Amino acid sequence: MDKRDYYEVLGVSKSASKDEIKKAYRKLSKKYHPDINKEPDADVKFKEVKEAYEVLSDDQKKAHYDQFGHTDPNQGFGGGGFEGFGGFEDIFSSFFGGGGSRRRDPNAPRQGADLQYTMTLSFEDAVFGKETEIEIPREETCETCNGSGAKEGTKPETCGHCHGSGQLNVEQNTPFGKIVNRRVCHHCNGTGKQIKHKCSTCGGAGKVKKRKKIQVKIPAGIDDGQQLRVSGQGEPGVNGGPSGDLYVVFHVRSHEFFERDGDDVYCEMPITFVQAALGDEVEVPTLYGKVKLKVPAGTQTGTKFRLKDKGIQNVRGYGKGDQHIVVRVITPTKLTEKQKQLLHDFAEVSGQVPQGEHEESFFAKVKRAFKGE
Ligand SMILES: [Zn+2]
Ligand SMILES: [Zn+2]
Repeated sequence: MDKRDYYEVLGVSKSASKDEIKKAYRKLSKKYHPDINKEPDADVKFKEVKEAYEVLSDDQKKAHYDQFGHTDPNQGFGGGGFEGFGGFEDIFSSFFGGGGSRRRDPNAPRQGADLQYTMTLSFEDAVFGKETEIEIPREETCETCNGSGAKEGTKPETCGHCHGSGQLNVEQNTPFGKIVNRRVCHHCNGTGKQIKHKCSTCGGAGKVKKRKKIQVKIPAGIDDGQQLRVSGQGEPGVNGGPSGDLYVVFHVRSHEFFERDGDDVYCEMPITFVQAALGDEVEVPTLYGKVKLKVPAGTQTGTKFRLKDKGIQNVRGYGKGDQHIVVRVITPTKLTEKQKQLLHDFAEVSGQVPQGEHEESFFAKVKRAFKGE
């Protein structure tokens, strides 16, 4: 299904001001609110409007969207924070009555809770991505009572103690006079409803715990600690509110010989001192199979080589990293008599001073130090 343009969803122009965007959102979210609008696709439209506003009301997300549109795979990444929940203002207005003018309505739709799931991945799966199924325990709307919590054929009744408001005024006599406190109604736990005959499946909760299977597409290039938001797969909403989101947090296992730094991959390559001295062509493992690497004659230990684009695909689609190879020259430890003899001969022709230019100057310095120069 193709996603509609966010500006189109809110019915504003690309140059709309923050105020205009907010106004459009207010108007449309009221229009499509599942509690008010009983059209079958109202909740889909409500979510669409909410998502569009989430992006266009956030300067950073808006800039990103303006540049990349819906195609940007970055969409849906929390980026280390749970900032995407419909804006703080909405949370505040639903809990605290938006500046004190409105009371919290127990029957108002509320978004379901977000869920978090930690997934451990192999190094390769993180590099190449994969599609997998996860099973998460979450609360689902009870199918027997459709979430009402009441037994079949009955309905929840308005709480007779708070008359549906979910709150009770409690009078308290204090030395300073009478104080009226507003408390959550304990008869109905603030729901404003009372269930005389409870649903036998859910015991009146309206929800049941279920293990739900969800298909998750892991994007190639995901790194340890990053998270993916699966929209609408959290706990179900209350009173017809939208579902929460599911956050999948990735833990990536380390690799036998590759190390990762961002999109770049590092590995060490042992070579013999003969290969280092004479030069050779060696096979190097990469994420994409073996490649041949030319080691020039006279290569020192610690020399770095770079294989361009043999790193990891950027998770946001910005190209590929490189592979870096650090050469380690291995000094042999077990020598046969013949090998020893050859090395003695080699030493004799070379003299005891290392042959490289850098080392010569280094030894020259040492000599000078001994002579007290
Ligand atoms: Zn009550
Ligand atoms: Zn039920």
